[in-house]
Amino acid sequence: MKNAQAHSFRKARIELEHCFTCKGKAVVQGVFYELVCCDCNGSGWVMAGSGLMLSTDELVTQLSLRLQQAQREIEVLQRGPTLCGQAEYYQQNNRRGAGGSNYTGD
Ligand SMILES: [Zn+2]
Repeated sequence: MKNAQAHSFRKARIELEHCFTCKGKAVVQGVFYELVCCDCNGSGWVMAGSGLMLSTDELVTQLSLRLQQAQREIEVLQRGPTLCGQAEYYQQNNRRGAGGSNYTGD
């Protein structure tokens, strides 16, 4: 068992990469105006490795996970590089149900 925290995530996180067609911009330049990119469902992101487009349902969740992570990183950065301890504080705060079902089977 590598990380007990991973078990608390109900939704599997999918690694994403920028869409090749629109280069992550979610739109492509049409003749007269910009068009929603069809290769990534207008998100700018596809599955890393396979390059497959995600369904809109899946996209909402995966983009939310990414956004939450990005916001946490921004908040940490805004506090300044000297306050490295803040990142740990954040992760502890995110721990769900501390002490709830906390026995180990060894
Ligand atoms: Zn695209």
